[in-house]
Amino acid sequence: MNWDNTTLFSDDNAEDAAFRHEVRGWIADHCPADLLNRPDRVDPVEIKPWHRRLFERGWIAPHWPREHGGMGATLKQQIILYEEINRAGAPTPFQHGLNLAGPIIMQAGTPAQQARHLPGILSGDVVWCQGYSETGAGSDLASLKTRAVLEGDHFVVNGHKMWTTNGPWADWMFALVRTDTEGPRQAGISMLLIDMKSPGLTVQPIKSLTGHAEFAQEFFDNVKVPRENLVGTLNGGWKLANIVLGNERFTTGSPRAAALRLNKAREVARLSGAYDDALFRQQLAHMEIELLAFSAFYHHGAALHAAGKAPQSMGPVMKVFGGDLSHRAAELVMQVSGALGPSLQRVQIGNDLHDIAGDLFASRISVVGGGTTEIQRNIISKRVLDLP
Ligand SMILES: Cc1cc2nc3c(=O)[nH]c(=O)nc-3n(C[C@H](O)[C@H](O)[C@H](O)COP(=O)(O)OP(=O)(O)OC[C@H]3O[C@@H](n4cnc5c(N)ncnc54)[C@H](O)[C@@H]3O)c2cc1C
Repeated sequence: MNWDNTTLFSDDNAEDAAFRHEVRGWIADHCPADLLNRPDRVDPVEIKPWHRRLFERGWIAPHWPREHGGMGATLKQQIILYEEINRAGAPTPFQHGLNLAGPIIMQAGTPAQQARHLPGILSGDVVWCQGYSETGAGSDLASLKTRAVLEGDHFVVNGHKMWTTNGPWADWMFALVRTDTEGPRQAGISMLLIDMKSPGLTVQPIKSLTGHAEFAQEFFDNVKVPRENLVGTLNGGWKLANIVLGNERFTTGSPRAAALRLNKAREVARLSGAYDDALFRQQLAHMEIELLAFSAFYHHGAALHAAGKAPQSMGPVMKVFGGDLSHRAAELVMQVSGALGPSLQRVQIGNDLHDIAGDLFASRISVVGGGTTEIQRNIISKRVLDLP
């Protein structure tokens, strides 16, 4: 049997096993081959047709309720679908829409916002991005300064957003803006849905450490945003921001990334000869035990999350564990790849091309994006451990 960490903690019943079998076969037949196991980051424009196929098959939003066009799937089916997408090496469909913008619009948006935006998120026709961070307002998000002033039936937005993933391709942004400067900082923030083609909005791509322009910064110069694009209440954005962050942290904490990297460590070690080293096998076994324990914990957390019973600290806890494990797994791949690893070129290992150094850089994403590990630890120390 091929060792496969991605399904290490599977306890499928007969129905789940049949669903897994169906999903696995369908992905093999329908995911474009040139998207599989790509060593680099796949841009939204390339993911779109794949997203569309999943949508047409009815498998695009397993966690959304049916009334909003989702699958209304059981938690186990949600996990299986994403496990199989990852196992095949296929890219995930657009997460900013499906996991962040969509759920908050379902939860706090008006019926008109839901009718306008949810169909495009499901079909993948509309790409979303998250406009939270600014220069000087990353970890300390509440200090954000992008200003939105209500003038009659629209807001006038001025300011600057930074580190926006998918910014160069996005059609819409859900953004945090300052709508009040008088009271406590958190009480003066609102959430707006902003059309990225609005006059006065300039998008500048930014290259990441991996050499890929996956981010952008945006400059807002008297950008008019219709009042009806306010999500929830005026100055009520902080609560919504945290709900979105909770979802984001929970998702980025998933053990799947670590599982895939440990699979790769095993594969690369066999090819490089490092597998004969008892010390390496001990390291690998140790990390796989950690992965198994963390997967069990994550599955339990996912059940609480799906039932709406997860404490707010759950996202940060998952993100700290999952991000750390995933990063250490990428380091292990680098360690066993010998002289191939530090190359900035892609290297052929077995049947696949690997960008080992690039993947090590990319593994840092989960310890910074969505809030750094230090900030997650601060949240845990305050909310869970009740430290001052
Ligand atoms: C891959 C990736 C994708 C991202 N995508 C998006 C996106 O789509 N939209 C978006 O809005 N933002 C995005 N970000 C930005 C991300 O949210 C911020 O980078 C993050 O919140 C940290 O903010 P900062 O970069 O300003 O660092 P800073 O806040 O300046 O922090 C610098 C360092 O100081 C530490 N630090 C700061 N304050 C404290 C404290 N109180 N206690 C202990 N240590 C502290 C931090 O942990 C960090 O190590 C993304 C970032 C990455 C890496």
